[in-house]
Amino acid sequence: MTFMRTAAAAVSAVFLALASPAALAQNFLPGIAYDPAIPTIASVMGKPSGERITPAADVVRYFRELEKAAPDRIKVMPYAKSWQGRELVYVVIGSSKNIAALDSFSADMKALADPRKTSQSAANAIIARAPGSVWLAHGVHGDEISSADASMMTAYHLLAAKDDTVVGNILANTLVFIDPVQNPDGRDRFVNGFYDTTGLVASGSPIAAERNQPWPGGRFNHYLFDLNRDWLSISQPETTGRIAIFQKWFPLVFVDLHEMGSDSSYFFSPEADPYNPDITQSQREALKLIGRNNARWFDRAGYSYFTREVYDAFYPGYGAAWPLFHGSIGTTYEQASARGLLVRKSDGTDMSYQDSVRHHFTSSIATLETMSANRERMLRDFYAYRASAIEEGRKGSVRSYVIPPQQDQSTADRLAKLLAQHGVEVSRATDTIRACRKTYPAGAYTVSLAQPAGRLARTIMEPQVNLDAKFMTEQERRRAKDLEAELYDVTAWSLPLMFNVTTDRCADEPAGALAAFTADTPTPGTFTNPDAAYGFLAPWGSTATARLLSAALREGIAVSSPDFAFTHDGRVYPAGTLIFRNSATPDLSAKLQRLATETGANVVGVDDSWITEGPSFGSEKVVTHRAPRVAIAWDRPTSSTGAGNLRYVVERQLGYPVTPIRTSSLNSDDLSQFDVLILPEGGAYSSVLTDDGARLKAWTERGGVLIAVGSAARFVADPKTGLASIRRENAFKKDEPKKPEEDKTTVPGTVLTTADGLRAAESPLEEAPDSDPGALVKATPDMDHWLSAGLKQSLNVLVTGSDIYTPARRPDGVNVISFAGANELVTSGYMWEENKRQLAYKPFVVVEQEGRGQLIVFTQNPTTRAYLDGLNVLLANAIFRGAAHANPPR
Ligand SMILES: [Zn+2]
Repeated sequence: MTFMRTAAAAVSAVFLALASPAALAQNFLPGIAYDPAIPTIASVMGKPSGERITPAADVVRYFRELEKAAPDRIKVMPYAKSWQGRELVYVVIGSSKNIAALDSFSADMKALADPRKTSQSAANAIIARAPGSVWLAHGVHGDEISSADASMMTAYHLLAAKDDTVVGNILANTLVFIDPVQNPDGRDRFVNGFYDTTGLVASGSPIAAERNQPWPGGRFNHYLFDLNRDWLSISQPETTGRIAIFQKWFPLVFVDLHEMGSDSSYFFSPEADPYNPDITQSQREALKLIGRNNARWFDRAGYSYFTREVYDAFYPGYGAAWPLFHGSIGTTYEQASARGLLVRKSDGTDMSYQDSVRHHFTSSIATLETMSANRERMLRDFYAYRASAIEEGRKGSVRSYVIPPQQDQSTADRLAKLLAQHGVEVSRATDTIRACRKTYPAGAYTVSLAQPAGRLARTIMEPQVNLDAKFMTEQERRRAKDLEAELYDVTAWSLPLMFNVTTDRCADEPAGALAAFTADTPTPGTFTNPDAAYGFLAPWGSTATARLLSAALREGIAVSSPDFAFTHDGRVYPAGTLIFRNSATPDLSAKLQRLATETGANVVGVDDSWITEGPSFGSEKVVTHRAPRVAIAWDRPTSSTGAGNLRYVVERQLGYPVTPIRTSSLNSDDLSQFDVLILPEGGAYSSVLTDDGARLKAWTERGGVLIAVGSAARFVADPKTGLASIRRENAFKKDEPKKPEEDKTTVPGTVLTTADGLRAAESPLEEAPDSDPGALVKATPDMDHWLSAGLKQSLNVLVTGSDIYTPARRPDGVNVISFAGANELVTSGYMWEENKRQLAYKPFVVVEQEGRGQLIVFTQNPTTRAYLDGLNVLLANAIFRGAAHANPPR
């Protein structure tokens, strides 16, 4: 711990040399002389640091100016483009010696990351020569503004500070990676909104327009993803780029710098309970070490902070969590947001933007100091982590996973590619292989846990990651008193379950012909019998076939599909199988061949239409598809992520365009321009749809398809709308509590014999079920309904919140997909016992016919974070089969 004393001494010396407030404002740390050859923020931006909320492009411009001034000590490298075309860059700063050796540093880190190829003595040589490394990631949430400005301060300070021991040590021992703006589209949305509404002076009022963001808010990227939750599904270009460069450098410490509510102070590690069980003891020690030194700097400066509350480390899909599973030390810093240039806190004190920027700067320098003093230990821990992951993988009861070829092969392919993107080694069988005491055919994917990223593979693939039992006992105690659960995110994220991809967990290692599989390996569809005399069939039931349907409809290719399975030439095709006839579309074979390659769908050429079982193609049970015009409700009161993620899945995973329309337009405009309207998550639709949904109802009855998703179900199930027949349930109570008679001043006496009796007497007469943080549950489709075409017999649904609905009663509606019984309900994660019992057999999806139209209600969101790919076919059914089953006047 000697470095701590040295650090403390250095800091106190720095703070004793008092400077004037104005000088302090731009000198960042008092008593330090800065090199005039390095451009200041004021000289490039026209305003000193913290006096302007810098737009994304200007932040990048400043780093490029720094690079011009000190090309031997800073490099700026692009790594991605946002949806809206903004450039994402990362920056590396170090001594000229370390910057000149970047390529060999990358090679060293990759070598250290693989103890199978790098012996302990080779590792020792690397540990002796390689610098440490810290990755400072800023502004993943676009309206968390201070960190991007702090990143410029940090870079300037590192490059310009003269004769400072702390900076000298950092540069000599550490490579500093800076990702200044992780979410440029979101940041600029906030910055534009702020400068659109600000005036002569910045307002500190919590209700000033400049900090009250219009929907959808700056937090999210273009498709309204929370990029801090995208690290598992890697769906957005910003995340894709970031995860790729991480594996080029394997930074030892990864800090994600955020903001929280204005009334708070500052948060850094150690994190709150619960910890993911795959985070090792030495990682927890390192998190403490970092927090301890941050605290010393904050104490010196007189800044408040807190640790060990709110922000936990259980869910692996955060920016600060994911690196932990590669052996880095990932951690979150949270600064109270000024959400503008000045904010008045509720205790009456003011906080300036400059203050918030300086706090992030201070924790950044403190963390860099910790690394510079612990370089060797951190490098050694990293190598040891990767080695112990391999060892664990060799010994565990599960040693590998096998993903056999399956009906929705496109989703299995996506899972394999995703694992490869994560840096998990994946192999593919080129011939039959043996594992799990079984034989698998060529095409099966395998993942061995005996690899350096084995813990990441395990946390992604395992069906269950257990929460600490003591922690959950405490949560149950809190819940009994109606206190909020201390879980920050979902308790389940198993990708094989969420993708509904059959995956075997094996106690052995696969043996046989295996080849390495990488994320860029093409997985085109298949196309047989191109000269088929009659036409082509595409078996329904995969995301790829849904993409083929989208593409065919967009290109005007005639397509129909049956509501039931059929047998042709001895082969059984599932309900929903796409039927293309040569006679209906010119050049059909060539078109479908191209689309099979593009979409990954399998297409089978057939010479005749002779069906031996199920409907023939001329049957009334075969529907004709027309390209539906699809709209999604946009703007308040929809949830930004709910609306954005749903639109993303339809547009980018299914390949079909969606028109967002403002909820205010649902009151007045002519909906007849659309065939399908999706109401995404959003509870208070009645606050905007002032006619209680009368126009929506009329539109649906004329032949529209209305799809209500997640909390939007509350609106359509509100009796005032007259839309759905189902109702939202209160929490079940064993003994219906008696309401006191209103006109009596006293009530009959009771005897409470147990503490449970008191709890029952304390609880409200009517209340919603307790809110679930998020678990995966089993649901079963009614395979006789057209909405179930191509579905598996069992689906996995992510259930969050407290909404449970009554089943629809015949003839009002059909419970097409129902949750399983209480004992087999939860497939992954934690659900409160009472909710389990009450949710059992209740509806997940209900279809109610409304006049000539269809109302489809999803009681839970099937597109959360775009990682529930196992429900993509169901969503495609709702849109395309729903439209084919509506009957508007034509
Ligand atoms: Zn944040």
